[in-house]
Amino acid sequence: MPGHEVWMMSGRVPDSPLAARFLASPNRGERRGHARPNCLVLHYTGMPTGEAALDLLTEPASEVSAHYFIWEDGRIDQLVPESERAWHAGNAFWKGESDLNSASIGIEIVNPGHDGGSPPYPDRQIAATIALVRDCLSRWTIPPERVLAHSDVAPLRKRDPGEGFPWERLWRGGVGHWVPPAPLSGGELIRHEEEGPPVRALQAMLALYGYGLELTGVYDRHTRAVVTAFQRHFRPERVDGEADASTVATLKALIEALQ
Ligand SMILES: [Zn+2]
Repeated sequence: MPGHEVWMMSGRVPDSPLAARFLASPNRGERRGHARPNCLVLHYTGMPTGEAALDLLTEPASEVSAHYFIWEDGRIDQLVPESERAWHAGNAFWKGESDLNSASIGIEIVNPGHDGGSPPYPDRQIAATIALVRDCLSRWTIPPERVLAHSDVAPLRKRDPGEGFPWERLWRGGVGHWVPPAPLSGGELIRHEEEGPPVRALQAMLALYGYGLELTGVYDRHTRAVVTAFQRHFRPERVDGEADASTVATLKALIEALQ
C-alpha cells in the first residue's frame, strides 16, 4: 500500500487516542449545516478482505470513505478527520435529517457481510468498536440512541452491519440503545398489503423512533423494508419484514425507554 505510507508521513494524529494510524482518504469535504457530528453510523465493509476495503475507501475514484476503519483484530485506523464530512451513508434519512454524512461519524467494520456468508464479528473487533464508539459519544456528547446501523438510515438499499452484529453486547458495554426483544410467540400479525389504522399506527411509531417512511396506512414495500431494518437491529432472532406482535412490542418498549 504505497499510497497509504505517503499519507502516514503527513504526520496527522488521529482524533481518537484509540486509533493507531491516520491514513487520509481524499474522499471527504466540509460538513454542511452541522458544525459537529450528532450521531454515529456503523457499517460492515462487505468485501472479501479488509485490505481491499481500505484500498476502496482511500482511492479517489471510489468516492467513498469513513472516519474510522476497524480491523478484525481490533486495530483502528482513521481515514477522515472527525471535523470533516466522510462519504459513507449515501442517500439516507434519520429523524428529519437527510444529509447523514454531514451529521455523523462513519465507522467501517471489516466483515465480508451477507454476501460473504456473514461470519461472526471477532471479540477483539467488537471490544475495539465498543471502546471507539464510547470515546466518540463522550467527546461529542452524543446520546446513546443515536448509534445507528447503515440499514437503519437506508433501509431500502442497505443491510449492514447485519443482524449478526452484536448490538446487545454493545449495549452491555455501554453503547447504543436496546431493550430485550419481546418473545417471538403469539399475537396478531399485520400482513403484507394490509391497510388501516393498525398499519398507520405502526408507521407512526417507526417514524417517531427515527426511521424515514410516510404514514400511508398501507403495509407497502417501503414499510416492510423499514420493519426488516428494525428487526436486524432490535429483534435479530427473526428478520422477515413481518410486523408480528414481538416486533411491535419491542418497538413500543424502545420508544418508552426514551421517555
Ligand atoms: Zn454501509
